[in-house]
Amino acid sequence: MTEDDVTADEPRVAVVSGGSRGIGRAVVQRLARDGFDVAFCYRSRADEAKQLQELAAESGSRVVATQVDVTDAAAVRRWCDETEDSLGPIEAVVTSAGIVRDNPLLLMADEDWSDVLRVNLDGVYNVCRSVIFGMMKRKRGCVVNISSAAGVYGNPTQSNYSASKAGIIGFTRSLAKEVGRYGIRVNAVAPGFIETDMTAELTEQVRKRMLGMIALNRFGTVEEVADLVGYLAQPRAAYITGAVLQIDGGVTI
Ligand code: NDP
Repeated sequence: MTEDDVTADEPRVAVVSGGSRGIGRAVVQRLARDGFDVAFCYRSRADEAKQLQELAAESGSRVVATQVDVTDAAAVRRWCDETEDSLGPIEAVVTSAGIVRDNPLLLMADEDWSDVLRVNLDGVYNVCRSVIFGMMKRKRGCVVNISSAAGVYGNPTQSNYSASKAGIIGFTRSLAKEVGRYGIRVNAVAPGFIETDMTAELTEQVRKRMLGMIALNRFGTVEEVADLVGYLAQPRAAYITGAVLQIDGGVTI
């Protein structure tokens, strides 16, 4: 898709999983400001979702919040179908829903392994599986999956999380090869340490140690990640697919 293929009055619809908080929340706002109508899902925090829905709608876009657990394949399928019925064909997908359950492998509970894989990896599969046929029929669309620096380089106490995020990278590259001929782009964004609820739980000692590893000597902001995601969703990113874009302040160099 090129800039010329997008006309000003054409509705552009995006879905964002895990849109109520953190990176997903900033992505919802970014896409709404960029003219997308946005449907986002969340798991449990309805108040924050409702507040975001109102805030993001101030941009003039239609913004719809729905409670959907990304591990529930049937519910995800229903959510995507209903989004297409109410807003129109889905053009952009951002999968941001994710959890952590950190522990050294020796102490890891089986359910902490499977919960993280189910939300972070199965969740991405469920969302992409639900939208891909429509995109292929329309020969148009883009997917941005939120991976992590931990998925590229690994992280102690995060074998479950790192495995899920590395899985997203393999999934992204395979899907990019499968659907590129239909004009669909599939990319992954791999953030380093970003200020969100997920990283707020780190102790002061761990934060200090992390800062020492980051070339830019600070955590990133959700807006910085959302700007990159927003760029990937635009026609000017038309030649980028199968990429894993790191946005980590230099933590991985
Ligand atoms: P937050 O914890 O701030 O937000 C997580 C979001 O995911 C919330 O909207 C939450 O909904 C939603 N969510 C969680 N589980 C489910 C589920 N089963 N079904 C639907 N929605 C769900 O996370 P971040 O913003 O920090 O992280 C977003 C993504 O970015 C994740 O995939 C994470 O792994 C990744 N990432 C984050 C980094 C960081 O430093 N923060 C670094 C690298 C990657 P609810 O509000 O209802 O709970």
